[in-house]
Amino acid sequence: MPCKHGGLAVQMKSKPHAQLAGHAGATPASTSVLASVLDAKVLVLNRHFAPLRIVDARRAFTMLCRASAEVVSVESDTYVSYSIQSWAQAAEFQRAFEADDHDWVTTPSIVIAVPKIIRLLGYDRLPRELVKLNRRNIYARDANRCQYCGKHFTTRELTLDHIVPRVQGGGNTWENLVCACVRCNARKGGRTPKQAHMALIRAPFRPRRNPAITVRLGSSRYQSWKNFLDEAYWTIDLSDAPQ
Ligand SMILES: [Zn+2]
Repeated sequence: MPCKHGGLAVQMKSKPHAQLAGHAGATPASTSVLASVLDAKVLVLNRHFAPLRIVDARRAFTMLCRASAEVVSVESDTYVSYSIQSWAQAAEFQRAFEADDHDWVTTPSIVIAVPKIIRLLGYDRLPRELVKLNRRNIYARDANRCQYCGKHFTTRELTLDHIVPRVQGGGNTWENLVCACVRCNARKGGRTPKQAHMALIRAPFRPRRNPAITVRLGSSRYQSWKNFLDEAYWTIDLSDAPQ
């Protein structure tokens, strides 16, 4: 019963480092491991099982302890719901049979797996977020593929390209910004694709939902998220998604 005894959510919310360092046996190494575990990403669904956003594990545990959310676990292609209490009780089984599938929060009084998906039980309180136009989200939308040669690159090897160059009046918009590899960007120079005789592999678009969710799908740890994501949106080839 993590909420009852340890005040887990409160404890984590307020200075996890200081709190945990104070416990006997907490080494600096285990503290930093815990801190990173609490940064693990959790997909939040609304009560109709539609994905809303991603939060870190701290926030997820806070919502679970307030009973404003429940854990949704994908088990043998069915969805199983857990309260924070029943999720904590499931830890023994999980540790015995599927320890590697989970990130673990381990404190002197609690061992509990970080859920990958939670579902809000009340009405949606979280406002629908407008997807921010920033480099990270453009890279995520384009799945780290150069939109001219179509090849996959690491983030460092990519640049942002204004399709219509700024000197020709092109703006900073979802429809005018794409990922391009250094080579294609240099080849294109200060020209439009037409002027440079280059073609985009697809028309850029404004994402309806935070594209960072797509990036997470590249990691096998987050495959269970896939069940909840709108198929029409996920046209990006997942095998090319960055890890
Ligand atoms: Zn390229």
